[in-house]
Amino acid sequence: AQVPVITIDGPSGSGKGTLAGRLAKHLGWHLLDSGALYRLLAFAARNHGVDLTNEEALKVLAAHLDVQFSTKPGGGQRITLEGEDVTDVIRSEQVGAGASQVAALPAVRDALLQRQRAFLEAPGLVADGRDMGTVVFPQAQLKIFLTASAEERARRRFLQLQGKGMEADQATLLKEIQDRDERDSQRSVAPLKPADDAILLDSTRLSIDEVQEKILEAFAALG
Ligand code: C5P
Repeated sequence: AQVPVITIDGPSGSGKGTLAGRLAKHLGWHLLDSGALYRLLAFAARNHGVDLTNEEALKVLAAHLDVQFSTKPGGGQRITLEGEDVTDVIRSEQVGAGASQVAALPAVRDALLQRQRAFLEAPGLVADGRDMGTVVFPQAQLKIFLTASAEERARRRFLQLQGKGMEADQATLLKEIQDRDERDSQRSVAPLKPADDAILLDSTRLSIDEVQEKILEAFAALG
């Protein structure tokens, strides 16, 4: 039988990462945080002195990324790159901007495709990103496209960074989020857009619990 997939796509700060983590835990399924792969690549490129416009070198780097995803003792994901714990450092807006730059390169997306599909294992997978439902797992049983206003997303990102003890300015975050949205939606390969068969959810005025409830209802309705 086909291994089930739930995809959650949407812009940064929509809450998709948090939700994907919660759903995976609730269902006992695997989790793919695809954005982390683009962040890891941008971070590795900086470490290795590879220019973020050098598509050929980035493609090679993407194919050989030495990364490990594991579950922290208290839950949540730990990510290591070349043996170093980078769980928190790859969350900065700076790395996010680099990620969206390398993510616009077709050879990079291609190099990361198989790596993402390899996450699909029994009993199931929850995958979050920009093109999970459109490109990576078009066969997914349930596709969610999660949005929220840019202001609300900037506010959430601010709280998230603050919670990690990182410096942040809300107005700057809003500007960075808008720039990133623009770049992610305008690019020619795998632009940020809902799959034709995706369920659209606006989380601006909904709590994480409410959104989770709606997604689980939609999943239960599949039978
Ligand atoms: O989701 P997150 O903010 O971690 O993603 C970082 C960047 O990686 C996004 O701005 C986007 O450009 C890119 N990305 C992508 N496709 C995905 C996931 C992320 O292009 N499936």
